[in-house]
Amino acid sequence: MPILAYHMVEPRFDLSITRVKPDQFRRQIEIALASGYRFVTLREYLAQAQVDEKAVALTFDDGYESIYQYALPILQEYDIRATVFVISHYLGKMDDWDVNFGGIRFRHLDADGVRALHDAGWEIGSHTCSHWDLTRLSAAGRREEVTASKMELERLTQAQVQTISYPFGNTNAEVIADCRAAGYEAGVVMGRSHVELEMNFNLSRIGVYLFDSPGLFSQKLVAKKQKMFNFIQRGIDFCSDGTVLVRQGIGKPKK
Ligand SMILES: [Zn+2]
Repeated sequence: MPILAYHMVEPRFDLSITRVKPDQFRRQIEIALASGYRFVTLREYLAQAQVDEKAVALTFDDGYESIYQYALPILQEYDIRATVFVISHYLGKMDDWDVNFGGIRFRHLDADGVRALHDAGWEIGSHTCSHWDLTRLSAAGRREEVTASKMELERLTQAQVQTISYPFGNTNAEVIADCRAAGYEAGVVMGRSHVELEMNFNLSRIGVYLFDSPGLFSQKLVAKKQKMFNFIQRGIDFCSDGTVLVRQGIGKPKK
Protein backbone atom coordinates (compact mmCIF):
# COMPACT_ATOMS: atom_id res chain seq x y z
CA MET A 1 0.00 0.00 0.00
CA PRO A 2 2.25 2.71 -1.26
CA ILE A 3 1.83 6.46 -1.10
CA LEU A 4 2.77 7.84 -4.50
CA ALA A 5 4.27 11.32 -4.83
CA TYR A 6 3.80 13.32 -8.01
CA HIS A 7 4.80 16.89 -8.74
CA MET A 8 3.79 18.12 -12.18
CA VAL A 9 1.54 16.50 -14.75
CA GLU A 10 2.68 18.67 -17.58
CA PRO A 11 3.09 18.29 -21.35
CA ARG A 12 5.58 21.18 -21.74
CA PHE A 13 9.27 20.46 -22.01
CA ASP A 14 11.29 21.02 -18.88
CA LEU A 15 14.63 19.70 -17.70
CA SER A 16 13.06 18.66 -14.44
CA ILE A 17 12.44 14.95 -14.07
CA THR A 18 9.80 15.50 -11.38
CA ARG A 19 7.25 15.84 -14.15
CA VAL A 20 5.11 13.20 -15.82
CA LYS A 21 3.34 13.74 -19.12
CA PRO A 22 -0.49 13.63 -19.11
CA ASP A 23 -0.59 10.52 -21.35
CA GLN A 24 1.94 8.83 -19.12
CA PHE A 25 -0.13 9.74 -16.04
CA ARG A 26 -3.32 8.34 -17.60
CA ARG A 27 -1.51 5.13 -18.48
CA GLN A 28 -0.27 4.78 -14.88
CA ILE A 29 -3.78 5.23 -13.48
CA GLU A 30 -5.09 2.62 -15.92
CA ILE A 31 -2.32 0.18 -15.04
CA ALA A 32 -3.10 0.52 -11.33
CA LEU A 33 -6.85 0.09 -11.81
CA ALA A 34 -6.38 -2.89 -14.13
CA SER A 35 -4.21 -4.51 -11.43
CA GLY A 36 -7.00 -4.13 -8.88
CA TYR A 37 -5.66 -1.14 -6.96
CA ARG A 38 -7.93 1.60 -5.70
CA PHE A 39 -6.94 5.16 -5.00
CA VAL A 40 -7.57 7.01 -1.76
CA THR A 41 -6.68 10.38 -0.27
CA LEU A 42 -4.03 10.48 2.43
CA ARG A 43 -6.64 10.93 5.17
CA GLU A 44 -8.58 7.91 3.93
CA TYR A 45 -5.34 5.99 3.80
CA LEU A 46 -4.61 6.87 7.44
CA ALA A 47 -8.16 6.08 8.56
CA GLN A 48 -8.04 2.50 7.31
CA ALA A 49 -8.90 0.17 10.14
CA GLN A 50 -6.74 -2.56 8.68
CA VAL A 51 -4.02 -2.74 6.10
CA ASP A 52 -5.50 -2.73 2.62
CA GLU A 53 -2.84 -4.04 0.28
CA LYS A 54 -4.66 -2.66 -2.73
CA ALA A 55 -5.12 0.92 -1.52
CA VAL A 56 -2.83 3.52 -3.03
CA ALA A 57 -2.70 7.11 -1.82
CA LEU A 58 -2.12 9.58 -4.62
CA THR A 59 -0.37 12.80 -3.58
CA PHE A 60 0.84 15.87 -5.46
CA ASP A 61 3.46 18.24 -4.07
CA ASP A 62 3.76 21.98 -4.75
CA GLY A 63 0.20 22.60 -6.02
CA TYR A 64 0.91 23.38 -9.64
CA GLU A 65 -1.84 24.68 -11.92
CA SER A 66 -1.18 21.70 -14.20
CA ILE A 67 -2.76 19.46 -11.57
CA TYR A 68 -6.06 21.19 -12.20
CA GLN A 69 -5.56 21.34 -15.97
CA TYR A 70 -4.32 17.81 -16.61
CA ALA A 71 -4.55 15.51 -13.59
CA LEU A 72 -8.05 16.45 -12.36
CA PRO A 73 -9.90 15.69 -15.64
CA ILE A 74 -8.16 12.31 -15.97
CA LEU A 75 -8.85 11.37 -12.36
CA GLN A 76 -12.48 12.51 -12.60
CA GLU A 77 -13.03 10.09 -15.46
CA TYR A 78 -12.21 7.30 -13.03
CA ASP A 79 -13.89 8.87 -9.98
CA ILE A 80 -10.55 9.18 -8.17
CA ARG A 81 -9.74 11.80 -5.54
CA ALA A 82 -6.20 12.69 -4.54
CA THR A 83 -4.32 14.86 -2.07
CA VAL A 84 -2.51 18.05 -3.05
CA PHE A 85 0.04 19.84 -0.85
CA VAL A 86 -0.18 23.58 -1.45
CA ILE A 87 2.44 26.30 -0.78
CA SER A 88 0.11 28.88 0.75
CA HIS A 89 2.02 32.06 -0.22
CA TYR A 90 2.35 30.99 -3.84
CA LEU A 91 -1.30 30.86 -4.89
CA GLY A 92 -1.49 31.91 -8.53
CA LYS A 93 2.24 32.75 -8.61
CA MET A 94 5.10 31.36 -10.66
CA ASP A 95 7.47 28.85 -9.06
CA ASP A 96 10.33 31.23 -8.36
CA TRP A 97 11.05 29.35 -5.10
CA ASP A 98 12.59 26.62 -7.24
CA VAL A 99 15.88 26.68 -9.08
CA ASN A 100 15.07 26.11 -12.72
CA PHE A 101 17.75 25.26 -15.21
CA GLY A 102 15.37 24.94 -18.17
CA GLY A 103 14.19 28.54 -18.05
CA ILE A 104 10.49 27.69 -17.98
CA ARG A 105 8.47 28.78 -14.98
CA PHE A 106 5.33 26.97 -13.90
CA ARG A 107 2.32 28.56 -12.28
CA HIS A 108 0.80 27.41 -9.02
CA LEU A 109 -2.92 26.90 -8.47
CA ASP A 110 -4.69 30.10 -7.51
CA ALA A 111 -7.31 30.30 -4.73
CA ASP A 112 -10.12 29.28 -7.09
CA GLY A 113 -8.11 26.30 -8.30
CA VAL A 114 -7.47 25.06 -4.76
CA ARG A 115 -11.15 25.51 -3.89
CA ALA A 116 -12.17 23.65 -7.07
CA LEU A 117 -10.04 20.66 -6.08
CA HIS A 118 -11.43 20.78 -2.56
CA ASP A 119 -14.98 20.90 -3.96
CA ALA A 120 -14.17 17.91 -6.17
CA GLY A 121 -13.45 15.94 -2.99
CA TRP A 122 -9.69 16.27 -2.97
CA GLU A 123 -7.77 16.59 0.28
CA ILE A 124 -5.86 19.86 0.62
CA GLY A 125 -2.68 19.56 2.68
CA SER A 126 0.04 22.06 3.52
CA HIS A 127 3.41 22.33 1.83
CA THR A 128 4.22 25.29 4.13
CA CYS A 129 3.99 29.02 3.27
CA SER A 130 7.13 29.49 1.20
CA HIS A 131 8.83 26.13 0.58
CA TRP A 132 11.86 26.72 2.78
CA ASP A 133 13.61 23.65 4.14
CA LEU A 134 12.04 23.48 7.62
CA THR A 135 15.09 21.79 9.12
CA ARG A 136 17.21 24.84 8.27
CA LEU A 137 14.95 27.52 9.76
CA SER A 138 14.93 29.05 13.24
CA ALA A 139 12.32 27.73 15.67
CA ALA A 140 10.17 30.82 15.11
CA GLY A 141 10.46 30.60 11.34
CA ARG A 142 9.61 26.92 11.36
CA ARG A 143 6.49 27.44 13.50
CA GLU A 144 5.32 30.30 11.33
CA GLU A 145 5.67 28.19 8.16
CA VAL A 146 3.65 25.26 9.47
CA THR A 147 1.05 27.21 11.47
CA ALA A 148 0.27 30.07 9.09
CA SER A 149 0.04 27.82 6.04
CA LYS A 150 -2.45 25.58 7.84
CA MET A 151 -4.61 28.54 8.88
CA GLU A 152 -4.50 30.16 5.45
CA LEU A 153 -5.51 26.96 3.66
CA GLU A 154 -8.28 26.29 6.18
CA ARG A 155 -9.65 29.79 5.62
CA LEU A 156 -9.53 29.19 1.88
CA THR A 157 -11.27 25.79 1.88
CA GLN A 158 -13.37 26.16 5.02
CA ALA A 159 -12.14 22.70 5.97
CA GLN A 160 -9.52 21.26 8.29
CA VAL A 161 -5.98 20.83 7.00
CA GLN A 162 -4.60 17.76 8.75
CA THR A 163 -1.61 16.70 6.69
CA ILE A 164 1.69 18.28 5.67
CA SER A 165 4.36 17.50 3.09
CA TYR A 166 7.76 18.78 4.22
CA PRO A 167 9.56 20.85 1.54
CA PHE A 168 12.38 18.78 0.00
CA GLY A 169 11.07 15.92 2.16
CA ASN A 170 13.22 17.17 5.03
CA THR A 171 12.03 16.79 8.59
CA ASN A 172 13.31 16.08 12.08
CA ALA A 173 12.02 15.76 15.65
CA GLU A 174 11.70 19.55 16.12
CA VAL A 175 9.73 20.00 12.89
CA ILE A 176 7.42 17.14 13.83
CA ALA A 177 6.83 18.57 17.33
CA ASP A 178 5.82 21.90 15.77
CA CYS A 179 3.50 20.20 13.28
CA ARG A 180 1.82 18.24 16.04
CA ALA A 181 1.42 21.41 18.13
CA ALA A 182 -0.09 23.19 15.12
CA GLY A 183 -2.76 20.49 14.89
CA TYR A 184 -1.55 18.33 12.03
CA GLU A 185 -2.18 14.61 12.24
CA ALA A 186 0.32 13.33 9.72
CA GLY A 187 3.30 14.31 7.57
CA VAL A 188 4.93 12.80 4.50
CA VAL A 189 8.56 12.59 3.38
CA MET A 190 10.17 11.44 0.11
CA GLY A 191 11.61 7.97 -0.01
CA ARG A 192 12.17 6.03 3.17
CA SER A 193 10.84 6.90 6.61
CA HIS A 194 13.41 7.74 9.27
CA VAL A 195 13.25 4.92 11.80
CA GLU A 196 13.91 7.23 14.75
CA LEU A 197 10.99 9.54 13.98
CA GLU A 198 7.29 9.13 14.71
CA MET A 199 5.76 7.05 11.92
CA ASN A 200 2.62 9.08 11.17
CA PHE A 201 4.66 12.26 10.78
CA ASN A 202 7.25 10.61 8.62
CA LEU A 203 5.29 8.55 6.13
CA SER A 204 7.40 7.25 3.30
CA ARG A 205 6.40 7.99 -0.31
CA ILE A 206 7.50 6.66 -3.65
CA GLY A 207 8.17 9.40 -6.20
CA VAL A 208 6.89 8.97 -9.76
CA TYR A 209 9.10 10.54 -12.42
CA LEU A 210 9.42 11.24 -16.10
CA PHE A 211 11.64 8.21 -16.72
CA ASP A 212 9.20 5.72 -15.16
CA SER A 213 8.19 3.14 -17.75
CA PRO A 214 4.86 1.29 -17.32
CA GLY A 215 6.89 -1.68 -16.02
CA LEU A 216 8.76 0.35 -13.45
CA PHE A 217 5.54 2.04 -12.37
CA SER A 218 3.92 -1.38 -11.79
CA GLN A 219 6.87 -2.38 -9.65
CA LYS A 220 6.52 0.80 -7.63
CA LEU A 221 2.91 -0.14 -6.91
CA VAL A 222 3.92 -3.52 -5.62
CA ALA A 223 6.91 -1.90 -3.89
CA LYS A 224 8.76 -5.22 -3.96
CA LYS A 225 11.93 -3.64 -5.17
CA GLN A 226 11.99 -1.13 -2.37
CA LYS A 227 15.76 -1.20 -2.24
CA MET A 228 16.08 -0.15 -5.84
CA PHE A 229 13.62 2.71 -5.37
CA ASN A 230 15.47 3.92 -2.33
CA PHE A 231 18.58 3.99 -4.44
CA ILE A 232 16.81 6.01 -7.14
CA GLN A 233 15.27 8.23 -4.49
CA ARG A 234 18.70 9.02 -3.07
CA GLY A 235 19.65 10.37 -6.48
CA ILE A 236 16.59 12.60 -6.45
CA ASP A 237 17.30 13.72 -2.88
CA PHE A 238 20.75 14.70 -4.02
CA CYS A 239 19.21 16.86 -6.77
CA SER A 240 16.82 18.44 -4.27
CA ASP A 241 19.67 19.15 -1.91
CA GLY A 242 21.51 20.84 -4.74
CA THR A 243 18.46 23.02 -5.16
CA VAL A 244 18.55 23.95 -1.48
CA LEU A 245 22.21 24.87 -1.62
CA VAL A 246 21.94 26.98 -4.74
CA ARG A 247 18.85 28.66 -3.41
CA GLN A 248 20.41 29.52 -0.09
CA GLY A 249 23.41 30.79 -1.95
CA ILE A 250 21.18 33.24 -3.80
CA GLY A 251 19.30 34.41 -0.76
CA LYS A 252 19.43 33.18 2.79
CA PRO A 253 16.11 32.53 4.52
CA LYS A 254 14.87 35.72 6.13
CA LYS A 255 13.42 33.88 9.08
ZN1 LIG B 1 7.92 20.86 -2.97
